[in-house]
Amino acid sequence: MEYVVIALVVTGAFAAVAWPLMKKNRAPIQLADDAVLETAIKRYRAALKRGTVCERCLRDNPDKSKFCADCGAQLPGDSSEVTSN
Ligand SMILES: [Zn+2]
Repeated sequence: MEYVVIALVVTGAFAAVAWPLMKKNRAPIQLADDAVLETAIKRYRAALKRGTVCERCLRDNPDKSKFCADCGAQLPGDSSEVTSN
């Protein structure tokens, strides 16, 4: 009788862990539609021209950013901008 109780407890514990994982795997993959992708590409391309794409983590940062908002690395900046050493 004790073995039955232990088996039920073990099965219950296993199910408690496995069930959320199985539910997660069943969720459909959300694919971004073309319009969302095009917007992201345009934004990224503009950031590349501005020189606000981080060289370390590749995040696109807002215009006139000097440092990456994600990792804090210094951004390359606008290449046309004249810098004094
Ligand atoms: Zn970064």
